[in-house]
Amino acid sequence: MRLERRFEATIVATQEDRMRGPSPPALLRIRVFDLTLALLLVLALAPVWLARAVLALIQTGRIVDRAERLGRDRRPFARLTFAGASPGRDWPVLFNILRGDMAFAGPRPLTAAEAAEMPVGAEIRFSVRPGLFSPYRLQRRTGIAHDAESELDRRFVERLSLRGSLGLVVRSGIAALLGGGGERPAPPVLDFFGVPITNTTMDEAVDWIAVRASATAPFPGEKALVAFVNPDCLNIAYRHAPYRTVLQRAARVLPDGIGLHLGCRLRGLALVANVNGTDLFPRLCERAARDGLPLFLLGGRPGVAELTAANMRQRYPRLIVAGAQHGYFTPAEEAGVIARINASGARILLVAFGAPRQELWLAERHDRLLPPVRLGVGGLFDFYSGRMPRAPLWLREIGLEWVWRLAREPGRLWRRYLLGNPLFLYRVWREARQEAKR
Ligand code: UDP
Repeated sequence: MRLERRFEATIVATQEDRMRGPSPPALLRIRVFDLTLALLLVLALAPVWLARAVLALIQTGRIVDRAERLGRDRRPFARLTFAGASPGRDWPVLFNILRGDMAFAGPRPLTAAEAAEMPVGAEIRFSVRPGLFSPYRLQRRTGIAHDAESELDRRFVERLSLRGSLGLVVRSGIAALLGGGGERPAPPVLDFFGVPITNTTMDEAVDWIAVRASATAPFPGEKALVAFVNPDCLNIAYRHAPYRTVLQRAARVLPDGIGLHLGCRLRGLALVANVNGTDLFPRLCERAARDGLPLFLLGGRPGVAELTAANMRQRYPRLIVAGAQHGYFTPAEEAGVIARINASGARILLVAFGAPRQELWLAERHDRLLPPVRLGVGGLFDFYSGRMPRAPLWLREIGLEWVWRLAREPGRLWRRYLLGNPLFLYRVWREARQEAKR
């Protein structure tokens, strides 16, 4: 009994510590690392730095620009950049790090106005130095920043350690190399091989589905299909006209995966977010539970959809899963399956047969189905049933979830990723070149 109480007390103490932020020894280790790395970089880069400083002086008559930001404990400091628009503007940040205004890894330094907008409960982000690399900027770069910045910061600060900081620096470096940066225009609709893809955020996509699923009046053209496309799907759409037509007539096509990010980059455009089905699903379940929108899960091996339903009900107790059915039924059984879906009262039907089969199946049975929103979700139930582990976050943050999937099923997926991804990028590049010529 006493042991139990002591155990509980330890848990409470640990939770309180977490609320208070990182421990002083962890902060000290990080500071030593920051000082050492910044000093080494200053020494190594001294000649280029000097050249950039002279360039700033010639171009603008001054060496640095100062912008006021809030640091640790909301103390204001001047964030330094080299004057002028030439590359290397950010280099003086090493002085900010040496002076102790900033760290290499930490929450993004905010302006006073941005800090005022931060929600209550975000205060923990000010218990550490702001960072040159932040968890939010990293996830934004790969398009997976689906949670609020304050939430990502809180998680980072609560677990702050030297290893965590080093990890963030390395992952940010890799993501920058693979994904690039810079400001590019983000049109509301992207066109890849004649397929219109909605360029939107995860929150907006979930909201759009929920609104459509709860509406009683039919929508224009009674469009109901929501499809997710990755480079593999677009390669299929490129040569398979029926699938392309289905996507063109869909209510919405959403961008899935880092390949679309790279494709946009090749065309000088920005992808707002990687709105893939796997990340969307739990958010949709949360919203469906809140709004009382029943789901029907169709597809996957026997038992997998049921297991997914049970897992999601455990996570969101108010979620209504009106039915679950595996995807290996015979043509003779199909009418029964459709009757079950329609009788279930589901407002959202998720079909997991893999692309393009699920989209073609849904399009061919469009008039026979009742749920107002129908999503093609690929191998989604395999992840949420626990049958197939999903790639760890650090791999997703650097845009390499596909490497994980390839490593687990090389026989089935090598063609899709090793040949398909480069082929997709080549086609996008060729299309962009032809567009530029016109
Ligand atoms: N599947 C199905 N019925 C079929 C063939 C496949 O339900 O006749 C399921 C299969 O069990 C798997 C999913 O469809 O869960 C396809 O997964 P895949 O990873 O190929 O889809 P992707 O996400 O890559 O489109």
